Amino acid sequence: MFGKNVSIKRKLMTAILVNSASVLLLACIAFFSYEYYSFRKSSLSRLSTIGKIVAINSTASLAFKDHKDATEILLALKSEPRILVAALYDKENHLFAQYPINAPADAFPKKVGSNGSQYQNNFITLFQPIVQYNKQLGTLYIKYDMKTLYERFKVYTAVVILIIILISCWAYFLSLKLQQRIAGPILELAETARAISDDKDYSVRAVEVGSDELGRLTESFNYMIMQIEKQNISIVSINHQLEQSSAELQDIMDYSVDVICTLDRKGNFVKISAAAKTLWDYEPFELIGCNLKNLVHQDDIAGIDPVIELIINGEQSTNFENRFIRKDGKEVSMIWSARWKEKEKLIYCIARDATAIKNAEYKLQKRAKELAYSNEELEQFAYIASHDLQEPLRMVSSFLTQLEKKYKDQLDDKAKQYINFAVDGAVRMRRIILDLLEYSRIGKKKEHLELVDLNEVVNQVVQFCKTTIEEKGAQVIAENLPTVRAIRMPVQQMLQNLIGNALKYQKENVKPIVKIIAEEEETYWKISVIDNGIGIDPQFFDKIFLAFQRLHNNTEYSGSGIGLAICKKIAEKYDIQLWVESELDKGSIFTFTITKNNDKQ
Ligand code: ADP
Repeated sequence: MFGKNVSIKRKLMTAILVNSASVLLLACIAFFSYEYYSFRKSSLSRLSTIGKIVAINSTASLAFKDHKDATEILLALKSEPRILVAALYDKENHLFAQYPINAPADAFPKKVGSNGSQYQNNFITLFQPIVQYNKQLGTLYIKYDMKTLYERFKVYTAVVILIIILISCWAYFLSLKLQQRIAGPILELAETARAISDDKDYSVRAVEVGSDELGRLTESFNYMIMQIEKQNISIVSINHQLEQSSAELQDIMDYSVDVICTLDRKGNFVKISAAAKTLWDYEPFELIGCNLKNLVHQDDIAGIDPVIELIINGEQSTNFENRFIRKDGKEVSMIWSARWKEKEKLIYCIARDATAIKNAEYKLQKRAKELAYSNEELEQFAYIASHDLQEPLRMVSSFLTQLEKKYKDQLDDKAKQYINFAVDGAVRMRRIILDLLEYSRIGKKKEHLELVDLNEVVNQVVQFCKTTIEEKGAQVIAENLPTVRAIRMPVQQMLQNLIGNALKYQKENVKPIVKIIAEEEETYWKISVIDNGIGIDPQFFDKIFLAFQRLHNNTEYSGSGIGLAICKKIAEKYDIQLWVESELDKGSIFTFTITKNNDKQ
């Protein structure tokens, strides 16, 4: 009904006008119809009454054919101006009398029509039979004017038009008023919406008007704008962050030392960072579309497809190595980290120059090999030397003993003392040689894992040190030690050396008390040997584990300086942790670990 571009004000006005006009029109139609039919009805009834009266009055005139009397009777109809013409017909249907007297003959019907009334345009015609004693004497004809009705209708129409004009003015006036009340807030809303969309200023709010539907609409509108403003703020900040991130990403691409690139599933370069120039001597654009297989060492070509296959099949991230042939023909070792991204159908890669690492690895391996070889040689030498030295040493000490026995009487005290020193030296040397032999034998024997009851091992050590324990009045306390799955010999040797030292390095006039305890951790046991001896200055913690390194001379405490070196070598060989906690004069704690579910110890 209303065009899309018509203003609300016009729409309101038109609505009021159309509404009022249609109501008025309907009322008029109803009124007109009622007026028309009631007028017609009353006219008909009046005409019929007049007709009957005139017919009765005319009976005598017609019976006696009194023309003058009949004309006079008709003349009485003058009092009814709406009767235009009237006539009396005799029984032969000849015009007998007429009204008005001077009316032309064609004003009357030539023939008498059927009885009753009939509408004809602006008239009603009536043929009323004049009857006496059931005998029709003639017929009365009356033509009744209905124009009055239509004139009255004209007046009504004029009044209706006038009212419509008045209503239009009223509607206009009302629309102006309503516009302030209804259209005003809507226009305000529209204006605010326009300002927001034009200026992108989401801080603007529509003025709230009361709490009716428009007020609620304004409130909802303002709430909506507030939400948009909030979202806008977060979108702006997200955009800002996005811009920042993409700039940072670009920086990473530009400044990364490693090559960052994407490959399609066939291994063709799709995107590549600036480091391609420094690492591979290629400008990034030169590599776009090139296949990786054409750029690596020919021995590494075959490895590429399987790796790509692995990555595409969900290997989240994988490290693979190959040799990349630079544009200048040089070869660089690369380590690749790569990941498949299903959405983009691309492999995202980082390629790092591993040439230095590879060289270092090569050198390290070479060095390790050399070291292993020289260690082997050294151990072999130590073993042979200590083994072969035993024989001449045995000779030296037995001849010295013979010398002392046979020439006892010829030797003075000084000579005897020298011989004693020499024998003592030979004994110590024998001890050192035996320790050295033990040291070089570590890990050489074929060994197997077994269940080892540590209580039993400690008991054996105690038996072995029985004399020392008794001489010193020492105590060795070990309770509830676990049974572990391990290789027996290293564990036994370790405990023997540590308990032996704990007994040896006693404080003056203090009887040694040695405790062996076990603490259970998730994956290993911690076995500690705790003593109340002289303790160790922490600065020497590293030194004491080296071979022949002693903190005391032989007159204070005898020894070869190999016991802890043996423990350390066992620890290295069997993947055992070994450490010391101590302070001078406060005793020492030596701890080593035994792995549970052990496969190596
Ligand atoms: P040795 O006992 O034959 O001298 P070790 O290798 O067993 O050789 O010990 C090296 C040095 O560590 C010892 O000379 C000693 O000074 C020190 N040491 C070892 N165990 C203890 C201990 N329980 N208390 C104090 N000092 C110790």
